[in-house]
Amino acid sequence: MNYNINNKGYYGDFGGAFIPEMLYPNVEELRLNYLEIMRKPSFKKEFEQLLKDYVGRPSPLYFAKRLSKKYNTKIYLKREDLNHTGAHKVNNTIGQILMAQHLGKTRIIAETGAGQHGVATATVCALMGMQCIVYMGEIDMARQAPNVARMKMLGAEVRPAKSGSKTLKDATNEAIRDWINNPIDTHYIIGSVVGPHPYPDMVARFQAVISEEIKVQLKAQENTDKPDYVVACVGGGSNAAGAYYHFLNDTDVNLIAVEAAGKGVYSGESAATSMLGREGIIHGSKTLLMQTDDGQITEPYSISAGLDYPGIGPMHAHLYASGRAEFISITDDEAMIAGLELSQLEGIIPAIETSHALAIFNQKTFQKNDIVVINLSGRGDKDLENYIDYFKL
Ligand SMILES: *Cc1c(COP(=O)(O)O)cnc(C)c1O
Repeated sequence: MNYNINNKGYYGDFGGAFIPEMLYPNVEELRLNYLEIMRKPSFKKEFEQLLKDYVGRPSPLYFAKRLSKKYNTKIYLKREDLNHTGAHKVNNTIGQILMAQHLGKTRIIAETGAGQHGVATATVCALMGMQCIVYMGEIDMARQAPNVARMKMLGAEVRPAKSGSKTLKDATNEAIRDWINNPIDTHYIIGSVVGPHPYPDMVARFQAVISEEIKVQLKAQENTDKPDYVVACVGGGSNAAGAYYHFLNDTDVNLIAVEAAGKGVYSGESAATSMLGREGIIHGSKTLLMQTDDGQITEPYSISAGLDYPGIGPMHAHLYASGRAEFISITDDEAMIAGLELSQLEGIIPAIETSHALAIFNQKTFQKNDIVVINLSGRGDKDLENYIDYFKL
């Protein structure tokens, strides 16, 4: 079984590029050039240099002693929370801004839901002196005012999407419309392993630095480059794709994907896409998504903004359908408790997205000598308000 992209742009039955004809030239230009550009020594050199000096990589692989003791297994945390801007997303935006430059683009567009990807995009546009326009649903702009302010501070223009439900999917439609109208000078930075081929593969390759580092760091600390388990939360799936990438074909490395069950998988307020989703097309690719009987996309819900997405990337749909990865759903309550636990056992306040991955220990037990690597996708500063409300701190 192949768990990587095939030469037609599919992971098993999932993926492809289901796009309006007007968008075809833009996506085709990227498809024809992305691998060649990524292989250029000049591209690699600049990407690696920025990851080191700007992002602060390699991020540590930290043995969590007290957490390990509590769950009687060996738990390592891959510290993406220590990256500049506080999460893994910047690995991808650095890669894509360099890609845009190599393609001769001067203008960047992006869509954002909670604002995290918008901030990561605005950051790299400031770094490179590129024009940046971020589309964001009008309702999301009101809910996520601090991130809107961050983007403005970084010099980006935030354009409200005022149609439909005024949230992420409407912002995505606006961004696609913009790209159709500006095919020559504009690159569209997508923030996860979603979208039409080649985006899922390109984003996975930029995030693959996570598992590349895990292998080297584990070798130094445990004298093996293979953990028994790699665990990551899945919204669109980019931090998971990066943490799994170099282990995809090592089937003795177990992959665990953690989804947001919201108020319960079957509560009607959930984002547990693999459990609830059916095959369909979202954001230009064929994947699993939450939809009504007549194919309308269902509004997802999770306490964590980054997991509140009605689909999963096509790589993950294939990992689910093939059984390569085990999918676990974690409720809001379970995640919040796990976030508090990590804070008090290890002195690390995680993003609420990551707290979902940390909550698996109450559903699943491990052997004493198992090496379990959890991808700590982001830090919790952005979520403090939520933690305060929940725990009445
Ligand atoms: C955005 C985000 C996620 C979810 O996105 P993926 O593409 O699934 O990784 C997870 N954790 C953090 C901290 C995020 O900011």
